[in-house]
Amino acid sequence: MPDIIQLLPDAVANQIAAGEVVQRPASAVKELIENAIDAGADKIQLILKDAGKSLIQVIDNGCGMSLTDARMSFERHATSKIRKADDLFAIRTMGFRGEALASIAAIAQVELKTRRHEDELGTCLFIEGSEVLKQEPCSTNTGTSIAVKNLFYNVPARRNFLKSNPVEMRHIIDEFQRVALANPQVFLTLHHDGQEVYHLPASGLKQRVVHLLGNNYNQRLVPVEEDTTIIKLHGFVGKPEFARKTRGEQFFFVNNRFIRDAYLNHAVLTAFEELLPDESFPLYVLFIDIDPAKIDINVHPTKTEIKYQDEKAIYAIIRSAVKRSLGKYNITPTLDFDQ
Ligand code: ADP
Ligand code: MG
Repeated sequence: MPDIIQLLPDAVANQIAAGEVVQRPASAVKELIENAIDAGADKIQLILKDAGKSLIQVIDNGCGMSLTDARMSFERHATSKIRKADDLFAIRTMGFRGEALASIAAIAQVELKTRRHEDELGTCLFIEGSEVLKQEPCSTNTGTSIAVKNLFYNVPARRNFLKSNPVEMRHIIDEFQRVALANPQVFLTLHHDGQEVYHLPASGLKQRVVHLLGNNYNQRLVPVEEDTTIIKLHGFVGKPEFARKTRGEQFFFVNNRFIRDAYLNHAVLTAFEELLPDESFPLYVLFIDIDPAKIDINVHPTKTEIKYQDEKAIYAIIRSAVKRSLGKYNITPTLDFDQ
């Protein structure tokens, strides 16, 4: 009997991996905007057609790529962000797995234009189903433009499972808001089917919250700040009387990465105690800064979960910091907390 085990061709391996990284247009949006942030861009445009189903384009003014790097960026496990296992304990970038572009290019038609500041000509690449169809020098702005067309064109089962445009847009806007909150210093725009949905000039955090969530939030925010040896904490919680019956305005960021964490969410809620009306959820936008060696963010491919060494201490710090801020606000409700 002959041996029967074979390595899968790259295109097939990439398509399988893509199932984990790219579940829907919003996951591709997240990966592409995070790449632009990692590239040091301070201006990022997101352009969508058909809720991202036919087009997701991200244009940034970041560092751009050389021709060789542009080709490499679509290889699986190819990254400029880590080099050795130790680097996993010092991650400050959004990306590090080197999987997003390879995954996206396996299940879509991708057009990349990129140029580094020091290069006269940039590179233009067309890739479809992991296959490079065209590569040519081109004149283009410094930075990177990546257009992802017809997501899941070759995975009909996935494509058919996509939800209606309003539902897919909701998911995209959730991702967009998270990146926008984490990076107020970046000028961000979002266009959908020719309409401008967001126009967010570079600003401070409070202004960014107000731009994203509405002018009336200006008066609703109570600042939170705490500096300990375990974590640094900053951000805002909403005044209790503006808490909502529905969730959706709760944002935790760990080292600037949006994180879902039921345990830390609980820490905030218990800090509000009886201040909250029944069954309602307060707004919070909280940033935890922590030594990357003390967390493991490599829990899940989408990187929205973290394991912490000092979970209990972090819980206690968050709870007491939020409590203290709310106390100040309650005793002196007319104090102007403008930051
Ligand atoms: P990761 O972000 O985990 O490194 P990706 O597949 O998302 O993996 O990207 C691979 C590499 O391509 C990145 O490490 C980076 O060097 C380069 N790259 C991707 N997007 C951009 C961009 N917008 N600007 C500059 N370089 C980029
Ligand atoms: Mg990436």
